[in-house]
Amino acid sequence: NYGRNNYQFYSRELGSKASEYIMLGASIRQALKNAEFELFYQPQVDLMSGEIVGAEALLRWRNPQLGVVMPDRFIKVAEESGLIVEIGEWVLREACSAVVCLNRYRPDDHPLSMAVNLSSRQFLYNDLLASVKDILAETGCKPEWLKLEITESLLLEDSQEIISTLSTFKEMGITISIDDFCTGYSAMSYLGQFPISQVKIDRSFVRDIAAKQDKLELITAIIRIAHALRLELVAEGVESKQQANLLKIQGCTIAQGYFFGKPMRLRHLKLILAEEHDL
Ligand code: C2E
Ligand code: CA
Ligand code: CA
Ligand code: CA
Repeated sequence: NYGRNNYQFYSRELGSKASEYIMLGASIRQALKNAEFELFYQPQVDLMSGEIVGAEALLRWRNPQLGVVMPDRFIKVAEESGLIVEIGEWVLREACSAVVCLNRYRPDDHPLSMAVNLSSRQFLYNDLLASVKDILAETGCKPEWLKLEITESLLLEDSQEIISTLSTFKEMGITISIDDFCTGYSAMSYLGQFPISQVKIDRSFVRDIAAKQDKLELITAIIRIAHALRLELVAEGVESKQQANLLKIQGCTIAQGYFFGKPMRLRHLKLILAEEHDL
């Protein structure tokens, strides 16, 4: 019977998914203790000068049994178990220390910025403001160096507490950036009302701009809206010179993607920066 086989197949699938979940959850708990997390840093480049102006911190998990686990496989589990709060604090501390280290050798008027991804859970279940302040003080990271990437869904929470936390971050000098811009459900005209300074255009919008005219027109429209709202723009997932050129022509200022550099270890980024400045 076709239907029954189908059902059995389905429930077996679910069963293995569920046990993978449980296994991952237990391993993540150990991962923090065993120092299995690591940050990689992907450069962000000024499209006019071609210079590296900052980096985004991206989490990697190196587990003896599982090998290297990418965030798309474990962040959801970490969010559902609440462990993301602790992991997120570790990420912030590590990323802030890294940018302090990078900026030690740079002229004061040319500091790099460091972008850190925040899960909505970090806003909802934790005194995020206090822990950011603590971490800045502990590491010596200036608020101006830090960019916090949030998603549109956080703004949909429509919570006064979240907005007030974001406003305080902005007053401190921290940049609030909307990740995966235009992939969520928020009305763009709404954005002007939030304390946001930057948007990151999702990779899905960048992908076909060199091949498809309608895709180029779409991204041009997004760039215009960002300009109208006086938001700084970062284009994600830039993989070719053509894409970079088109984005520059359309008025996008900062880009990030494999064309400029893949996520890399801190010491590798340091080497590239040293070469850039002929040290
Ligand atoms: P994201 O914040 O949108 O990060 C960009 C993702 O695109 C990264 O994947 C990056 O490696 C990848 N990428 C960058 N340039 C290119 C490109 O030119 N082509 C292609 N095909 N991909 C590119 P990654 O590192 O696997 O991270 C996936 C997602 O996991 C991130 O998406 C972010 O949402 C989440 N994530 C990563 N680190 C953290 C973290 O520390 N905390 C939280 N809460 N989430 C994180
Ligand atoms: Ca991001
Ligand atoms: Ca993104
Ligand atoms: Ca993404």
